[in-house]
Amino acid sequence: MRKYVIMGVQGSGKSTQAALLARDLDLVRITVGDMFRWHITQHTKIGAQVRRTMAAGELIDDDLVESLVHERLQLHDWNYGFVIDGFPRSRDQAEFFLETYDIDAVVYLDLPDEEVRRRVLARRLCADCGMDYNLIADRPTVEGRCDVCGGELVRREDDTEAALATRLREYHEKTDPVLEIFRRKEFVITVDAGQDVASVQREIRRKLGLPEYVQKKDD
Ligand code: AMP
Repeated sequence: MRKYVIMGVQGSGKSTQAALLARDLDLVRITVGDMFRWHITQHTKIGAQVRRTMAAGELIDDDLVESLVHERLQLHDWNYGFVIDGFPRSRDQAEFFLETYDIDAVVYLDLPDEEVRRRVLARRLCADCGMDYNLIADRPTVEGRCDVCGGELVRREDDTEAALATRLREYHEKTDPVLEIFRRKEFVITVDAGQDVASVQREIRRKLGLPEYVQKKDD
């Protein structure tokens, strides 16, 4: 059983790296931002509650986030373990998490704010299937259209200059201390997220003592 947390500022590649780990190690991937985005697109009560906060780049209330993560983990469908990205992001969330679950390691994807801005402002998402693209590194074949389903590519509502500035500030204020809590417990590995996707994944695997990463055609 492996239980990992992936941390890093937005645009550091958390979801991509978590997805590769989950796929090859049979881990359940839990992406808190995606869970909230699902609520927004499905127009649920939670969606209505968080939409404005998210669009502004602010963090959602700890109680709500904790209950959502708790409910998700209570499903116990993670026979081989889980990799969770986007959580914990505050001291409270970290304490709640550590009280309830043992974690094997925290992967910290390190990326300077300037590179974060460059990447995030180039990010696009398919409005229909949710596939993500990047106008710098991962362009669609037809401009503005999803390669998979042909849906329209849009910017995430919180990928604007103003929301990004708020998210970076929130990150440094509230999430940097979380890293400190984990560092005291000595299970943080730091990886330079400025490298290409495969190199980041290889370094994560090496530092966690996992089987080597073998890149597949579509990775
Ligand atoms: P992400 O997709 O990880 O960049 O998250 C997008 C947004 O979802 C954040 O800017 C927050 O508004 C919200 N969010 C995601 N995870 C958390 C969390 N652990 N605590 C509070 N808000 C969160």
